[in-house]
Amino acid sequence: MFDNLSGKLDKAFKNLKGQGQISEINVATTVKEIRRALIDADVNFKVAKNVTDTIKEKALGQDVLTAVSPGQLLTKIVSDELTLLMGGSKEDINLKGEPNIILISGLQGSGKTTFTGKLANHLKSQRNILLVACDIYRPAAIDQLKVLGEQIGVDVYAEPENKDALKIAKNAIKYAKENNKKTIIVDTAGRLAVDEQMMQEIESLKKNLNPAETLFVVDAMTGQDAVNTAKTFNERLNFDGVVLTKMDGDTRGGAALSIRTVVDKPIKFISHGEKMEALDIFHPERMASRILG
Ligand code: GDP
Repeated sequence: MFDNLSGKLDKAFKNLKGQGQISEINVATTVKEIRRALIDADVNFKVAKNVTDTIKEKALGQDVLTAVSPGQLLTKIVSDELTLLMGGSKEDINLKGEPNIILISGLQGSGKTTFTGKLANHLKSQRNILLVACDIYRPAAIDQLKVLGEQIGVDVYAEPENKDALKIAKNAIKYAKENNKKTIIVDTAGRLAVDEQMMQEIESLKKNLNPAETLFVVDAMTGQDAVNTAKTFNERLNFDGVVLTKMDGDTRGGAALSIRTVVDKPIKFISHGEKMEALDIFHPERMASRILG
């Protein structure tokens, strides 16, 4: 993950090797290379420009008499700015309400169903969980959720014959109350592209279920498209957080770096594999240091 970006940033910092102090010239060259590295990593152009302008301003404003080398100083500034770009600090999901409802949205193939299982696995030691299969158009999705539920030992509520997602979800809530379930995670239908019917359905689920947390799941490998899809979903759903999936692939990092600025919603989890354990809480600072290698 991020090998390419890390390598390019490393190369950019090499300009400063042996330089005794930060000057307008060496900063300008390095910052230009950092900007190019970010754009090559599929970071939104405006985001890359803004962040590198800030980096330059901060680097030039530094007292050059400090003990650290210009390379170390700039690395610290870049690390701080990348951390801020990704939201500054981690943000937890909301587990308010009983039963507490978590709604999962996103395009088909983004990794929604897999993530639904992973989130249940992650929370199951603290909460009694019920998974709800509301992907009514893809019978395989219901089976997939059932298999995952069995694998992690969490109950799955499904009504394979029912084609009304809202009714299924409402029945699931009733079932949850009767069976002492504390958290309900609702997996929803996705399409291959943003589609009006899908949007209306998920909007209606959000409005009627009033979930404590609505998460938007997106494939990080899709780069700028991931950011655009996030923007569209957020305009309709006003979701609470983003889950970046397939971070184990050779993603160029653009989605992780641009989403917070473009959509103004925090990334809350990253998924990095098909196994149920391949899920991490997103920490902006850790991600920045991973990017910088
Ligand atoms: P959905 O259509 O959004 O529910 O997507 P699925 O959960 O069915 O995932 C689509 C495919 O991506 C499946 O083959 C998953 O095993 C795979 N997948 C999901 N998350 C990850 C991940 O983080 N890394 C990798 N490598 N594959 C994943």
